[in-house]
This record gives sequence, C-alpha cells and structure tokens, in this order.
Amino acid sequence: MPQPHPCEAFAPRPRDPAQAHWDVELQTMDPDERRRLQDERVRALVRRALETPVPLFARKLFEAGVTSAEDVRGVEDLGAIPVTRKQELRDSEAAHPPIGDYRFTSLRDCVRICRSTGTTGEPTTVLFTRKDLFIEHESSARNLWRRGHRPGMIATHAHPAYLYGGGTMVSGAYEYFGLVNLWVPPPDTDELAEIGMRAWMRFRPDIPFQGFSLGRYLEVAAKLGLDPARDLGLPARRSGGGGAMDRMPLMTAGLECYSYLGGTCGKSPGAHLNEDWAVVQAIDPTTGREVADGEWGDLVVTTLDRDNGLMRYDLEEACAIERAPCPCGETTARGFWGGRSRDLLACRGRRFQAWDIERALRAVEPVTQPSLEWIVLRPKEDDPRIVVRVELAGDADRAEIARQCAAAIRDAIAVDAAVEIVTRDTLPRSGYKTSRVLER
Ligand SMILES: [Zn+2]
Repeated sequence: MPQPHPCEAFAPRPRDPAQAHWDVELQTMDPDERRRLQDERVRALVRRALETPVPLFARKLFEAGVTSAEDVRGVEDLGAIPVTRKQELRDSEAAHPPIGDYRFTSLRDCVRICRSTGTTGEPTTVLFTRKDLFIEHESSARNLWRRGHRPGMIATHAHPAYLYGGGTMVSGAYEYFGLVNLWVPPPDTDELAEIGMRAWMRFRPDIPFQGFSLGRYLEVAAKLGLDPARDLGLPARRSGGGGAMDRMPLMTAGLECYSYLGGTCGKSPGAHLNEDWAVVQAIDPTTGREVADGEWGDLVVTTLDRDNGLMRYDLEEACAIERAPCPCGETTARGFWGGRSRDLLACRGRRFQAWDIERALRAVEPVTQPSLEWIVLRPKEDDPRIVVRVELAGDADRAEIARQCAAAIRDAIAVDAAVEIVTRDTLPRSGYKTSRVLER
C-alpha cells in the first residue's frame, strides 16, 4: 500500500457523494446518546474552568455554588450558571490585556488571532487553536454537504479579511471541505466589485455568490451593462425568503463563539444545530431557564470540546428551538433566529425588525432596481410614524412610489411610515453588512 502523502494530514477522509450526511455517525446519533455526550463534555468544560483555572468562568461557577466538576451533572445544571455577555469579555480584555481572563489556553497555544468588527463597541479578540479550527471546519462541512455542495465545486465569497477573521474562516472551511475557494474582495467600491465580477466571468463558480453584499454587485453590474444572470450567474435579485411569518434559520453564534453553529435543513424549516459541539438554549431572561420548544427566548450558547470555549454565552439575540424529529434523518434540534436585541425596533406598541421593512419594500418593484437601498431612522415609541428613506432610480412618480412603499410597510407591520424617496446613490453603501437603522 502506498503511504498517504503528508499533505493528507490537512484533509478529511473522502465520502461517498451520494450519502445523505457529511458525518452520518454524529448527525444521526440517538438523541439520548448525544445528550450523554453533551453531559460529559459540559462536565469536562466545568472541570477545566475550575482547575486551569479560567478566572472569569470560575467566578460564574462559584456564583452558582459550583466548586467542583462533581457539582454539575451536565446540560440540566447549566441553567443555574449565570450567563456571560460580550461586554464582560471586553471588560475582561481591558483589565487583563491582551486576551482577558476568560481563556482556557495561553495565546501561544493558538494558531490564529482575530478581532471582531467592533460594530457594537470596542472589538473583542477571538483565538483559535488547531482543534478549534477543526471543529469549525467539520461543522461547516456538515452544512455544505446538507446544501448539496460536493468537493470539486467552485465556490465564491467576499468576506472581509485581515484582523477581522471572517474571510479567513470561510476560506479555510471551503478548502478543508474540498471546494475550490474563489475569494473576491468585498465590494466596498465599484472598482473592487468589478474585480470580483471579472473573476466570476473567468472562473464561473458552480455555487453562485450569496451574501449581504449581493445588492452591491447587482447595482455595479447595472452600471457596467452586465446581465446578473447571464454574465455572472447571479440571481436577478436577492431572494426575500417568503412571507412575513417565515422564521429565519439559526446559522451562527458569531466568530467569537461558534461560526458554523448550524445549517439549513432544506426539508424542514430552521437550521440543524451541531449539538455535539454546543448546547444551544433559548432562555427566559428573567429566570435564566429554557423556554418551551418553539417559543422565542434569548440565545445562550455553551461550546463543547473546544480548547477555548465559552460557557453560557448570551449573544443578546433571540432564538427558538424545535426538537421534533426531522424527515431528513438528522437527529439534532433545529434552531430559528429572531434577530439582535439592539436591531429590534418599536413604535406605537408594535415591535419589528429592520428586515420586516425590507421585505415589505421588496414588493414595490421600482425601488428594487437594480438593488434595494433604504434606511429607517430609529423610531421612538411615541413617534406618530416611522421615517423611511428609499432610493429610486429613474424618473417615476415619486409621490406615488412613496405611497406604495408606505402601504406595503403598513400591511407588513401595522405601523404608519413617512417614506422619503431619495435619488439613487445618496444612501451609504458597504461592501459587507449595511446597517439599515440610522441612529439619531
Ligand atoms: Zn432536517
């Protein structure tokens, strides 16, 4: 037998392309058996937090009366442990530079340092050991396989790079899986968007670009006279995802916690969660305990089996969990994402998300060409109506279009809107995530 080349150390073992799951054993494991695995891994996490020690988490455990790993049976006892929020990680890093007092390893045991984008405040530091990256890559592989992707396909993305670790993470996960990784620059400028689109025209990705910045490519394609479907293989417009009642799948707990927490099932709504590597809880913030299946709660994640884990990390986002068996054969729970708490808007007793407005505006065809660009001023509870600005190309009747937009918003969220139609290219653009809520 020829010896495998040493480069195979980077590679997962080959799979039969026809098999239903990337990791049949772990994805279709008996739920009781998986629960025992989780319990064992929760106890290991608690033991390491106390014995390493990891001061921030050891303090949380003491608060809950846990002084030894034997005090915790497993998942059922997590509810008693106080949650940890991002601000506590920031405070820890400020008090104990450079990496804080919540790490299970030293900096030099790691192979990658990233910094969060800092959109919600001071950036935090994210560290990965080889094992932590392996867990992310394996989790991503499950998601890619579930979507029908197979090694050898050409895939593309435009995530930002350098200290912000998103682009490196996606590229690493694609290459581990065996996709051909075509990483183009985020379309921050029209010139950068064109560089990416020219690469797509040359290499023709099998998996077309999908992402926050799709609208940017569509608008630059229009300027260059390129046809999104014919020339670039792009969908003509960003898919809206159905009716207003649809719930979004819970895909990620962020780079700092678990990038590839779950992936869309395709047969049932929601995203299958990688429960062997995480305990995902929807909690009632007043009790810290889990809400019933299907109900919205605060998303709290405990990562398992990592070198650097997080215990009871409260992402300040909403989620719901469904544990009913799924016809796809996977035995993990499915998760739904309810948005970030800070993105939740309220006016006149109605609570809604920015994307509720976006979905409503998509029904008004003229404002979606070549891409929908809009913002909402953050409303105050007693405002008579919300203020929404929408770009319009061409010389259609602005008053009539504004009336149609306001009617669509009222239908969707039962709130009156003052819609201001503005000239194309006047609202801010971003090559990654564009904020639709303007603070005031
Ligand atoms: Zn399923």
